[in-house]
Amino acid sequence: MTERVYNFNPGPAVLPLSVLEQARDEFLNYAGTGMSVMEISHRSKQFEAIVHSAEAGCKELLGAGDDFRVLFIQGGASMQFSMVPLNFLPAGRHADYLLTGSFAEKAWQEAQKLGQAQVAGSTWGENYRRVPDKKEINFSDNAAYVHITTNNTIYGTQWHSLPDTGSVPLVADMSSDILSRPIDINKFSLIYAGAQKNLGPSGVTVVLIRRDMLEKAPAHLTSMLRYDTYAENDSLYNTPPTFGIYMIMLVLDWIEESGGLAAMEKHNTEKAGYIYDAIDNSNGFYSGHAEKGSRSLMNITFRLAREELEKQFLAEAATYRLSGLKGHRSVGGMRASVYNAMSKTGCAELADFMESFRKKNS
Ligand SMILES: *Cc1c(COP(=O)(O)O)cnc(C)c1O
Repeated sequence: MTERVYNFNPGPAVLPLSVLEQARDEFLNYAGTGMSVMEISHRSKQFEAIVHSAEAGCKELLGAGDDFRVLFIQGGASMQFSMVPLNFLPAGRHADYLLTGSFAEKAWQEAQKLGQAQVAGSTWGENYRRVPDKKEINFSDNAAYVHITTNNTIYGTQWHSLPDTGSVPLVADMSSDILSRPIDINKFSLIYAGAQKNLGPSGVTVVLIRRDMLEKAPAHLTSMLRYDTYAENDSLYNTPPTFGIYMIMLVLDWIEESGGLAAMEKHNTEKAGYIYDAIDNSNGFYSGHAEKGSRSLMNITFRLAREELEKQFLAEAATYRLSGLKGHRSVGGMRASVYNAMSKTGCAELADFMESFRKKNS
C-alpha cells in the first residue's frame, strides 16, 4: 500500500484520519451487533441512535435550538436546488437569488423552472472574483425567501458577513463551508450541505430547517420531495443512506473533540494563511482568483503565468504527495481545497512546495 497523500480534492474530499480508523475498526462488528453498520436495519435501535446522535451533534455545534430540525436526504445538494422552490415558492410569489458562482447559478436555474426566481445581486461580469457588496444587492419586496451560497467552491470566494434579509427567510447552500466557522444560526431558515466536502462521504445531504418552514409545503407535493416527510419520520420514512449518516456522526464527534466551530475557524484561518501568504509573497508568480476581501478559507484558487507551467506545477506537486490541486475548468489553474479535515501540515507542505517551485521557475 502506498502512503496516504495530502488530499486537496474539492469533493469527495479528505476525511479525518481518526474517523476513518474508527470506521475501519468497527466495520465488521458495529456496537456488538455482530454486523457491519452497513448490514444493520435502519429500524434497529443501534441505527436510530446514530440518526439521533447525528441530529443532536449538528444542532449542538451550530447552536441550533429546538426550533430547528436536522434532516438527512439523498440526491445531493443539487436536489435541494429543486426541493427549496418546490416547498417554499408558491405560485404568485417570487424568490431572490444571489449569484456568486456556478452552484448558485444552478440553484437559480432550477428555481426558474418552478416559479419566479429573481437575481438580487451577481458578480458574474467579474468572473465571480468576489461576492457582491451590500450596496450592490437589491432585495425585492415580499420575497418568499432569499437564496445564498455561503462558499463558492469553484471560484474560491466566501461571504464573510451576511446580507440582512429582514423577515424574509434566508436559505443557504453551505455545502463547502458548513461547520468550518461559527455562524449566527438564527439568521437562517434553512441550511443545506452535501456531505462530501466537510461532513462525510457523498450520498447524503444534511438539511437544517426551522420548524415553521415545515408547514409551507403545498398539499399536492409528493412525499419524498417534502421536508415535513423527513422531519415527521426522523429521516427514516424510507431507507436512508445509513453508512453516510454513520460517518457524519463520527465527523461531528471529531469536530466536537477538536474544540468545536471556534477552534475549526482558527485552524482553517491558519491553514489558508500559509497558502495565501505563498501567493501574496510571490511577486506575481502566483495570482489568486478571488479578491482579498472575498477569499475563501476552504477553496483557494490561483493561477500561474502560463498553462505549461501550471501543468508542470501539478506534476511536480504530485511527487511530494500533494494531490487534487487541479482547478475547475471555469477558473483554470490550481485549486487547493482545505476543508476542516485537511491538516496544518498539509497546507504548510503545499506552501513550501509553492515557494520552492517559484524559486526554481521565476
Ligand atoms: C459540491 C457543491 C454542490 C453540488 O453538490 P452535489 O452533492 O454534487 O449535488 C452544490 N453547491 C455547492 C456550494 C457545492 O460545493
